[in-house]
Amino acid sequence: MTETYADIIVDISHEKLDRPFQYVIPKELEDKLETGMCVQIPFGTGNRVIKGYIIDIGTVCKIDRAKMKSILGVVEKGVSVEDKQIALAAWIRKNYGSTMIQALKTVVPAKQSVKKLEHKTIERVMTKEEVISLLGESLRKKQVAKARLLQELTEQETIPYEWVTGKLAVSAQAIHGLEKTGVIRIVSTTSFRNPVRFGAQSEQRKTLSPAQQEIADTVIQEYLDGMPSTYLVHGITGSGKTEVYMDIIERMVALGKQAIVLIPEIALTYQTLLRFYRRFGDRVSVMNSTLSPGEKYDQCERAKKGEIDVIIGPRSALFTPFPDLGVIVIDEEHESSYKSESTPKYHARETAEKVASLYGASLVLGSATPSLEAYHRAEQGKVKLFTLKERLTGGELPEVTIADLREELKAGNRSIFSRELQELLKDRLEKKEQSILFINRRGYAGFISCRACGQVMKCPHCDVSLSEHRNGRLMCHYCGYSEPKPTLCPKCGSRYISGFRAGTQQIEEKLIEMFPGVRTLRMDGDTTKTKDSYEAILSAFANGEADVLIGTQMIVKGHDFPNVTLVGVLAADLSLSANDYRSAERTFQLLTQAVGRAGRGTRPGRAIIQTYQPEHYAVCHAANQDYENFYSEEILYRELGDYPPASHLLAVQIYSKDEASGDALAAELANMVRDTDWFQKELTESIRQKKKPEISLLGPTPATIGKINDVFRFVFYLKSSNYEKLVSIKDMLEEKIQNRQLRTEMVQFDFDPMNTM
Ligand code: ADP
Ligand code: ZN
Ligand code: ZN
Repeated sequence: MTETYADIIVDISHEKLDRPFQYVIPKELEDKLETGMCVQIPFGTGNRVIKGYIIDIGTVCKIDRAKMKSILGVVEKGVSVEDKQIALAAWIRKNYGSTMIQALKTVVPAKQSVKKLEHKTIERVMTKEEVISLLGESLRKKQVAKARLLQELTEQETIPYEWVTGKLAVSAQAIHGLEKTGVIRIVSTTSFRNPVRFGAQSEQRKTLSPAQQEIADTVIQEYLDGMPSTYLVHGITGSGKTEVYMDIIERMVALGKQAIVLIPEIALTYQTLLRFYRRFGDRVSVMNSTLSPGEKYDQCERAKKGEIDVIIGPRSALFTPFPDLGVIVIDEEHESSYKSESTPKYHARETAEKVASLYGASLVLGSATPSLEAYHRAEQGKVKLFTLKERLTGGELPEVTIADLREELKAGNRSIFSRELQELLKDRLEKKEQSILFINRRGYAGFISCRACGQVMKCPHCDVSLSEHRNGRLMCHYCGYSEPKPTLCPKCGSRYISGFRAGTQQIEEKLIEMFPGVRTLRMDGDTTKTKDSYEAILSAFANGEADVLIGTQMIVKGHDFPNVTLVGVLAADLSLSANDYRSAERTFQLLTQAVGRAGRGTRPGRAIIQTYQPEHYAVCHAANQDYENFYSEEILYRELGDYPPASHLLAVQIYSKDEASGDALAAELANMVRDTDWFQKELTESIRQKKKPEISLLGPTPATIGKINDVFRFVFYLKSSNYEKLVSIKDMLEEKIQNRQLRTEMVQFDFDPMNTM
């Protein structure tokens, strides 16, 4: 009888061990083992017992049979990995660079000793009618927070406690008050349940507009024809994209298929989730950061067993192991949070295409400001493009004006608000309408420098300038280091040491100075340390508890504010000056989103973009809400500079505790690439034929931020239109690194990075 052997990846994150090892499958285990199972094996000279994953089973003995060891047994409680997950992990490993075990761990949820978090739920005890009459009463008494909860209770019988304290911003005291008077009951559970009970009032199904219908029909028809594809739905917020997703999902579920919906964590609002819950009842589940790892694992198990049809979550929900996935939806596909920041640095959009092809599923992307990548693929015909042009709930796009700050200064206006913005703010305050002021920066002021000698206060651990906070301390935004603000310049002793540029706190102060009595709310990295505080500020603003909301980029997402009729962007340029090839795209997205915040209700909105570069194409096209023209200019720039998506970029990042050895390693790796025959040949060819080389190398250099947390960072970039070529360079460098026992250095790869380092 023939023997069978298993290829096993050992569960140790070590580059040297990043290949399969072959083991004999003992007779008694022969019909118990399958690929993907977690097994115990003896390993190394000491035959230490460790865990590993079977990635293949066969009858060909690849090494000396006499030296081959046997599998000891199955890890009963281990996670078994599906074939498709192994294939996906292998693809991620190859295309983004990591060890196989790192890739497997990305794809497969860690089996945790399921430590369940306690979840509290609020349940309505009184009847709906009684709650409605209480609601009227608390509205009369202006108990806004209490009213918010009562309002919600008229629609839902049960609501998760965290949502009430977080997203609805109701205090624990107010909740207990309602409990005491017998309106609600607080129930404690240790299992995560859907916030909406099955049978809750179901979402009113809309009759799709012809444009919506065409999208949904095409996706479903092509799926049924066995030709699932990738689709891009380009439509402003409110144009009905979510309604299209839900229709497609509903039809997929009717076919017995499952769906994954990716939404950036910041946009996973109560309202969005409720729409899905109401439509799909308890066949839908959420995977978000409030779940413990054990609970995430549970959700995956439920998906595997077919207990749910739809999962909603951020990036990692893509790996939910559904038995028969039919569609993946990626909403706000342009969001940079879809790219993983740790190794393997995969992009969920690209990886979703792989997942879709493994399952024969459709992929639907949606955005108001599509990524250059997605739109470029649509232009090339690789993705089918649909455009939704109108807002379905009324609400005109706001009228936008650009205020040239240079002209303001010439006219003698030295305030941070242009004259037009001042007038409009005054008008809104009089009319009791709300305004949003948006700045692309946080902290009281930007960097602190000496006006006499130019010395800039920097973090001693990171190569970035410190920012001044109102408590009088200087802080580092990378590592959190802080020190008291010096009264004298540490270099020259001058007293003229101060900050420049406006931050959210300074805007708030100026605003109060100009409009005494104005009620403000401020939202930035400092006021939103926790996710709950973020939701609380948004809810308070939505409830009219302030006239003006001042904030950084985080205010442009999520909630709808129907009473906002004015948006002011205070310094549109700040994000343009970032030393990064995506800065124009990011600026365009931010400005478009910010401007789109005005006029969501019945009254028309106005937006003012203040800038020093009024002629910049990202600013002009955002003011006109003109994506197509922005795209045409931006793609030209990418083509000229050979930047993604026109070409591909591989960042090789070297981290080291020791500056000199990091520098040396970076130079060594870069030279290795330069010295290869084909690189040299490519270079001479390109000179001879006077054409661009197929591949080029930039650097190495210390990174823009040369040091973070006392770790030095170096980087070099490889550019090529041929992704495969970059993958092979990565493979070569990975092998080189494997053969070297790096002690104080670490090397990471980042394909088509979101930020230059
Ligand atoms: P998006 O996802 O593009 O922001 P939504 O799907 O959330 O857009 O739709 C915006 C609003 O329009 C929602 O209130 C939704 O209920 C409503 N809506 C969407 N499609 C229709 C339709 N076909 N008929 C009526 N209302 C619709
Ligand atoms: Zn000085
Ligand atoms: Zn620091």
